[in-house]
Amino acid sequence: MILKFKKILILLLLTLLYINLHNYSLTYAINNTKNTTVLILCSYDSENNWENTIVEGFKKGLNFKYNLKIEYLDSKTLHSDIYTDSFINLLNLKYKNDSIRYILTLDDEALQLVRNNLFKENSFMYNIPTLFVGANKISSFSNDELKYITGIYEIQDNLEILNSILNSNKLIENIYIALDNSVYSSVIHDNIKSIQYLTNRPVNIKFLKSEYFNDIYSTLEATNESNSAILLVGSYANSSTNKMLKSEEVVNLIQSKTSTPIYSRIEPYIYSGAIGGIVNNGYRLGYVASNLSEKILLEPELSLPSPTYNIYYKALFNFDAVRHYNINPRLLPEDSIYINKGTFNFLVPKSTEIFIWAVSIMVLISIVALIILGILQKRNAFKNKQLLQESIQRDEIRTDFIITISHELRTPLNIIINATSLLELNVDNNNLDYNKVKQQLYYIKKNSNRLLKLISNLIDVTKIEYGYIDAHFEMANVVAVIEDTVLSTVQLANTHNIDIIFDTDEEEIYSAIDIPKIERIILNLLSNSIKFIKNKGQINITIHRNENSLTIKFKDNGIGIPQNILPSIFNKFYQVNSSLHRENEGSGLGLYIVKGLVDLHKGNISVESTLGIGTTFTIELPIVILENRISNNEDACSSLNNLIEIELSDIPN
Ligand code: ADP
Repeated sequence: MILKFKKILILLLLTLLYINLHNYSLTYAINNTKNTTVLILCSYDSENNWENTIVEGFKKGLNFKYNLKIEYLDSKTLHSDIYTDSFINLLNLKYKNDSIRYILTLDDEALQLVRNNLFKENSFMYNIPTLFVGANKISSFSNDELKYITGIYEIQDNLEILNSILNSNKLIENIYIALDNSVYSSVIHDNIKSIQYLTNRPVNIKFLKSEYFNDIYSTLEATNESNSAILLVGSYANSSTNKMLKSEEVVNLIQSKTSTPIYSRIEPYIYSGAIGGIVNNGYRLGYVASNLSEKILLEPELSLPSPTYNIYYKALFNFDAVRHYNINPRLLPEDSIYINKGTFNFLVPKSTEIFIWAVSIMVLISIVALIILGILQKRNAFKNKQLLQESIQRDEIRTDFIITISHELRTPLNIIINATSLLELNVDNNNLDYNKVKQQLYYIKKNSNRLLKLISNLIDVTKIEYGYIDAHFEMANVVAVIEDTVLSTVQLANTHNIDIIFDTDEEEIYSAIDIPKIERIILNLLSNSIKFIKNKGQINITIHRNENSLTIKFKDNGIGIPQNILPSIFNKFYQVNSSLHRENEGSGLGLYIVKGLVDLHKGNISVESTLGIGTTFTIELPIVILENRISNNEDACSSLNNLIEIELSDIPN
């Protein structure tokens, strides 16, 4: 009461202030090009969303052409006669000298105010054309009134919203209609009362009516949430402060006390968490009203059209609230608009959405699993193909090996048998020419050595493979060992027109080595170089000392090795030309054994070669010092000669 009084007092003070300022604003208005004034008279306060959206649509339609003035009647909180009188007095003072072209009234209360003053000569509203929108109460206008008043009525058909509520949940038996003291609320009340018997199924309708939220709160709190629904219509003030509650405050307060679903036809309530309903489209209504008002302005001589009805409404729902109250969206009107609906939210009940997601995820997982399985199968197939190829290659190598070994065995054996037969024949014929006998014996020995080399190599290959090869390391001058071995082959090389050049950085490099095995390495590499130098050539052997190792290089200018073969050259049984018609003798075991013996010394062997230019083998041996293990290489010379006879036995004469 005190608050209402305060507001009236403020209005009176404003009236006095206005009288002083009016002269100034009047001069300004006359000079203003937009001097056609249109007054918008709102029934509620400036915070009312419904009226604000109408004003927005109206302004948009007019394209801001006129001098628009807006006044708020604030009828929800201030509805006493004293207040209304003081309000109209203020407006009379304010607009007495303005040329008001017409008035746009929003909702019933504003329209009523105009009707009360339309024919009062001292009122600024006297005979002013008036366009009304949002009026819910169908009025019977007198013929005189219809000369000045036209507009758009709201159609209050609440049957659809009641049926929507009942359809959304089969258990609902009670619907609480929360109203306030506005004309809008009373029209809703009357409409629902008249149609409640037409609903899809019987329902108890209970009306709650108050301008204060506190009055309806306890009833809403006590509603049975399983079989009830609330239809929120009114807007409410707090009884202690007399201040209007915001939409979200009303919805939050109800939701904090009860889970009963809240439906509403008021857009701000839907945005604040109410489920939704059939909502009048305020913006569209304002826009249409602006078109109608243009007619009033442009053709004043024409009589006004009769009032019409607002057909602009939409089914608006809040997706979050629909989910919150577990409502199946498929039971709501088909062409509904949803706010808060994400791109990946489906218009199905929550349980169905969970099911859809679960199925989608399962399908996705299955697809991924199938792809992985496909890749694995492909990889397996590739691996199997590789294994098959390797096994075919192994078979080929084995066959080649058998062919090679048979050849390697048969050739020396044939020579031995032939030489022996010849000797036998000569003995029988008593034809013992010394030189001829010596030559036959030379053949027999050389080929026996060849057989011995082959058999020893086969045994050594097995030993290397199984790690049985034993070594006797002793401190020795590696340079001397290599030099002696190389020099002992010079004569044989010369008979093949090959020069051997030996060069070293240092004369003495002591390291722990297995002397016979180092000799075998040298002889093997030299034997290959001699075999693969055709006609004439040169072999260079160099020794270079590094900090902790020594590097031995064997360089020849023989036929060379194809690049694609080089990576396999140290594999056992590997020969560049393994056919029966190959030009050189050999079993393909030599380099495999050489590598095994270098490994035994913890060294490393590599090869570089160019076809037609020559081949270089590089061996790097670590220098290892062993105390008290100096070689006493006494019968070294005789064993080396033996080794040379065996290792070089497959070089043709
Ligand atoms: P083999 O006893 O058949 O000589 P190796 O293992 O010693 O077997 O050599 C394998 C193959 O490497 C030889 O058959 C030959 O084709 C190639 N090869 C080895 N050394 C040389 C070289 N210095 N020049 C050209 N080809 C070589």
